[in-house]
Amino acid sequence: MDPTPYGHDRKAAMIRKYALYLLRWQLSTPILAVCVYYLTRSLGVMWATIAANLIGGLIFFWVDRWIFRNTSILYTGELWEAVDHVTCADCGRKVDRGYRLFKAGTYDKSHDKTPQFRCHECSRAKYERDKAARRFGPQT
Ligand SMILES: [Zn+2]
Repeated sequence: MDPTPYGHDRKAAMIRKYALYLLRWQLSTPILAVCVYYLTRSLGVMWATIAANLIGGLIFFWVDRWIFRNTSILYTGELWEAVDHVTCADCGRKVDRGYRLFKAGTYDKSHDKTPQFRCHECSRAKYERDKAARRFGPQT
C-alpha cells in the first residue's frame, strides 16, 4: 500500500484545503474593515490598520493554533530520512539502508536527539502500527 498517494484525489484534497485556508483568511476581513472604517478618522489609516491587525492577531493566534493542531489543512505529506549502513533498531540486522519517518501531520520527530532507523520491513511494520494507533495526527 502506498502511504503517499500523489494522485488525483490528493490534488483535489489540496485544492479543497487551499479553499478552506483562503476562507479562514477572509474571517479577518470584518475586523479589518470595522477598525479601518471607525478608527481611520482619529488614528489615520496606518494606525487603524495596525490596531486591526493587533486585534486580529489576538483572536486568530488561538484560531490558527486550533487549526494547526486539529485539522490537516496544512498537511503536506510525510517526510522520511534514509541513511546508509545502519543496524535496525527493531530486529538488529545490519542493512545497507535504514529508514525513519520524522514528520507526518502532527507527528514531528525532526529534532529527535537519538533518531532510530529501521530496515525496510521493520520501518513498514512500525509505520502500520503507528498509523493504526493514530500517532500521525489528523489526516484526510
Ligand atoms: Zn529490522
